[in-house]
Amino acid sequence: MSTLILGGGVTGLAAAWHLQQRGQAVEVWEAGASVGGWMKTLPWEGGHFETGPQGVLWQKGTAVDRLFSAIDLPFKSPGTGARWVGKGGRLIPVPASPPALMFSPLMSLGAKLRMMLEPFIPVRAGEPEEGLSAFIERRLGKGVATELLPAMVAGVLAAPPEILSVDAIPKLRQWEATGSLVNGIRKSGVSHMVVPEGGMGQLPIQLASKLPTVRTGLRAERLEALPGGRWRVGGGGEVREADRVVLALPAFEAALLLGAVAPQCADALAAIPYTSVDLWHSRHAALPALKDSFGFLIHPPEGRGYLGSLVPSWMDPQSAPDGLMQLRSFIGGAFGKPADLDAWEGIFARLKHWVPSLGDAVAVRHERAERAIPRPELGHRARVAAALNGLPTGVDWLSNARFGPGVRDILEGLETWS
Ligand SMILES: Cc1cc2nc3c(=O)[nH]c(=O)nc-3n(C[C@H](O)[C@H](O)[C@H](O)COP(=O)(O)OP(=O)(O)OC[C@H]3O[C@@H](n4cnc5c(N)ncnc54)[C@H](O)[C@@H]3O)c2cc1C
Repeated sequence: MSTLILGGGVTGLAAAWHLQQRGQAVEVWEAGASVGGWMKTLPWEGGHFETGPQGVLWQKGTAVDRLFSAIDLPFKSPGTGARWVGKGGRLIPVPASPPALMFSPLMSLGAKLRMMLEPFIPVRAGEPEEGLSAFIERRLGKGVATELLPAMVAGVLAAPPEILSVDAIPKLRQWEATGSLVNGIRKSGVSHMVVPEGGMGQLPIQLASKLPTVRTGLRAERLEALPGGRWRVGGGGEVREADRVVLALPAFEAALLLGAVAPQCADALAAIPYTSVDLWHSRHAALPALKDSFGFLIHPPEGRGYLGSLVPSWMDPQSAPDGLMQLRSFIGGAFGKPADLDAWEGIFARLKHWVPSLGDAVAVRHERAERAIPRPELGHRARVAAALNGLPTGVDWLSNARFGPGVRDILEGLETWS
């Protein structure tokens, strides 16, 4: 069986690796000049910055752990750093344990008391698909859904939970299926954020090094069915025939290739929206309270387009020169972006509002992440089902829009898929 995988992001490369482990012949085509998709670590004077993920949730005995061990990927964990939610004009620590939450000003007393009832809320059948806010309100109460959830979701999907499906965060339903979220979280154990040595970009590089044929700078432009169930792919002056084609692509890219051979599937994929976000990387003199922290997320109504700032130099000290602290501020997403957040002066003013002692930036860079994050709005389940049901035999589609937004979701999904 020969498989041609289109897309050399982490999804395509990890899928290729799994198939190769099963003795299949695989080739990967990647449109960009290098592998990794959003997962790239790029040099920046005296350190580096991440274009996409900053870390991955790791736990012993999970899909992430198995893959990292199998490909000999060294990684490190920064441990547990403080994190805050910006609300009421100040940064409020996110408590590390549920009992500590009872004393936290993050939510009203009523919201905290309602939250404690979660283990006693009956499990609901999966259908019909529920909204993300509605799911959290049903299980944890309106207080958590309106006071805490929006900042948490903005930090992952850069979108408001009211428009999203519960499937946007697949772990939630998996946990509920065990009886309650509390039970599910307890059973699944604690995950730690880890970063490969040298940055997240080392994961796709290491995966590619284990594969026989990874072509970069080669964009698939046409997909044709051949007699006998085989497939032909063309692009960049090359043509390849294979028993199977795997589209490890964002839904809108997969839709372009499938339009001619599976129009209904292509329509379902094209209907999955994606969110763009602006990322501002900045370096400052290290501040004791902030430098050893994960960073902070802002309650979206107060953030007005400023979603929060994380501290990559805590996750990965090699990213910034000694004595400096590196921040990454998230702007816009599905919340929109006011004009004052178009330039660094506006971003810095917002940062200073939440961290008044922050010094001027000694270096700044801006990256636009265009259509970078899938937005699983209510109805996502039907769109994904229509896309998968409409795939022709011998063609598959793998993506974070199918498995879940995080690298952990993708690697778990791929293990089951393979
Ligand atoms: C800013 C940001 C921060 C994030 N932070 C985290 C985090 O901290 N932790 C976490 O777990 N996850 C995080 N994520 C999510 C995670 O990065 C993604 O889920 C994951 O990288 C997606 O990988 P992918 O391979 O599915 O897609 P992509 O990375 O989009 O890769 C798809 C690849 O396909 C290629 N391609 C497109 N069209 C064609 C074609 N026609 N032919 C050939 N190749 C083609 C593209 O060039 C690209 O390389 C973040 C994402 C972003 C954008």
